[in-house]
Amino acid sequence: MTDLHQRLATQGVHTLIAQFADVHGTAKGKYVPLAHLDDLLKTGAGFAGPSIWGTALPRTGARAEYYARPTEDNIQALPWMPGYALATSSGFVDNQPFEACPRQVLQRATGRLAERGWRLKTGIEPEFFLLKAKDGRWLPADDADRLDKPSYDLKSMPRQAAFLQALGQALTDAGLDVLQLDHEDAHGQYEVNFAFDEALASADHLMLFKLAAHTLAEQHGTVFSMMPKPFANQPGSGLHFHVSLWDEANRCVFAPVADEPGALLSPLARHFIGGVLAHSAALCALAAPTVNSYKRLVVGESLSGTSWAPAYVAHGPNNRTAVVRTLPGRFEWRLPDASANPYLATAALIAAGLDGIDRQLDPGPDCTEDLFALSLGEIRARGIALLPQSLDEAADALAADEIVCAALGPVLSAEFIRLKKAEWLAYARHVSDWELQRYATMF
Ligand code: GLU
Ligand code: MG
Ligand code: MG
Repeated sequence: MTDLHQRLATQGVHTLIAQFADVHGTAKGKYVPLAHLDDLLKTGAGFAGPSIWGTALPRTGARAEYYARPTEDNIQALPWMPGYALATSSGFVDNQPFEACPRQVLQRATGRLAERGWRLKTGIEPEFFLLKAKDGRWLPADDADRLDKPSYDLKSMPRQAAFLQALGQALTDAGLDVLQLDHEDAHGQYEVNFAFDEALASADHLMLFKLAAHTLAEQHGTVFSMMPKPFANQPGSGLHFHVSLWDEANRCVFAPVADEPGALLSPLARHFIGGVLAHSAALCALAAPTVNSYKRLVVGESLSGTSWAPAYVAHGPNNRTAVVRTLPGRFEWRLPDASANPYLATAALIAAGLDGIDRQLDPGPDCTEDLFALSLGEIRARGIALLPQSLDEAADALAADEIVCAALGPVLSAEFIRLKKAEWLAYARHVSDWELQRYATMF
C-alpha cells in the first residue's frame, strides 16, 4: 500500500471522486473505490468522451475515450462528505494530455508565463444566490425583509448563518483561508472570500467551493446558484478576479517601481492591463459565457439602478464602474460573472495580458469618473469602448481574436464558439412569456 493510500485509509476515506471540469466549468466525474487508487493515478477514470461538453471527440474508436487522471498531490479528503476524497483531475485521451481539457488549457497558459520567470496569482471572489422553488418559479431563498438595498445586511444574515458557517468551515477544513462572508446587493445573494493563490490553485479552489456550496445548500434546504442574473430587477453575481504577477523570487512585478512616486502599478502591469482591455470583447465570451450574462453587463442606466457590473472598457484607481479597477500592486478584473469557467477565463486573461506586454500596449489614462453616472453619449465622447451586449457578439469577437483562440487551442476554441453560437440561437428562437404578454393582443 502506498503512503497516500495509507494516509487516506487512516482518514477513513473509502471513495475517491475523480473530478474534472467540462467546458462550462461544471464538475463531472465518477466515484472510485479507494482500492483502485493506483489505477486512477496510472490510467484515470474512463468516460465516453462525446458525452462530455466541449471535447469534440469522435463517437467511435480509441479517441472517443476520455480519462480523468489526478496527480498524488491533488487528492484530498472532503470535510463535508466524510469517507470521500476529491481527486482533482485533468483529461487524457490516447494516454496523452488532452488539448481541450480546460484545466490543461490553464496549465499551458501558466507554462507560458513560467518560461519568462513569472507566476500569476489570482483571488477569485464568488458571488451567488440562494434560491427556493415556489409554484414552479425560482425565488430568492430570503427576501423576507423586502429591503431596498440588502448589501451587508446583518438582520437577515442569521437566517442563512447555519449554511454560511458550514460552508466557511468546510472550505477552511479543506485548506482554504476563508477571509469574509457577507450579504451582497440582491435579495438572497451572498459572497464568500478566500485568500488569493497561484492561478491554477485558485481555479481548483473555485471548483471545490462550488462542490461544497451545492451540497451544503441542499442539506440546509436551499438551492445554490451561480446564475449571473436570476432576477431582472436585482444585481447579478460577479466572479471578480484580483490579479497580480510575481517573479521566481516571489516578488510582485506589478508593484510600482521606485522612480514613479504615487503610481499604483508598474509599467509592466499597465501593459498587461492594456492587453486585457484590448482583448475585452473576446474575453467576454469566456468570462461572461451565457445569454444571461449580458443582462448583468448592461450599458447605460440599469433598470434596477446601480448593479456594479461594468460594461465599459476602461481602468481606474479603485473605480468599480470600470472593467479594470486598479489597486496597489494588483488589479481587480470585474468582467467575469459567476457562470465563468475559472480555468478558461484565467487562461484567456493570461493570453491577453501577455499580448499587452509583448506589444507594450498603453491602457490609456486612468479613468476616475463614475461611469454609471454618464450617458452613453458621454461615454462615447470619452472614447471608451463598450463590452459586447450579447453572447452572439462576444462569440463573434472571440472567433475574430487569434491570440485568445490560440490560448484555448484549435479544438477547444472551435468547440466553444460552436456551443455558444448554438446557445445564442436556441435563446433567440425561444418565444418568452415577456413576448406573449407584450404582443399577444397588441396589434
Ligand atoms: N454584483 C456585482 C457584479 O455583478 C459586484 C458587486 C461588488 O462589487 O461586490 O459584478
Ligand atoms: Mg461583491
Ligand atoms: Mg470584488
